[in-house]
Amino acid sequence: MHKGKFGTAINCMDGRAQMPVNDWLKQKYLLDYVDTITEPGPDKMLSQGIPAQVESIKSRVLISVNAHGSETILIAAHYDCAGNPVSKEEHVKQVKECIKILHSWNLPVKTIIGAWINENWAVEIVQ
Ligand SMILES: [Zn+2]
Repeated sequence: MHKGKFGTAINCMDGRAQMPVNDWLKQKYLLDYVDTITEPGPDKMLSQGIPAQVESIKSRVLISVNAHGSETILIAAHYDCAGNPVSKEEHVKQVKECIKILHSWNLPVKTIIGAWINENWAVEIVQ
């Protein structure tokens, strides 16, 4: 049975962040659905969190990859993040660190993307 094409977004819990990322991913990678893993400031949590926090994110990514066959993972940071109130430069640094971590998990995926959601709630590719 065809379930549809899934992608995975590791995104902020901030309600302003999800629609831009999900719409962008669907359009760019022709996805039907985006599994969304939300945390307050996920770029900080994945790059600097305690092992239990990182494992929690990883376990959810694995469900998306293994059960839904996602081949596209995006980690997002955004403008005006209350969960991780640092400069854009710092967010970008953390997103790049997250990309390294995601690659180190050796997931069977095609694409790992880092994104910055800017003050207009538009998606910019970090890497
Ligand atoms: Zn946020």
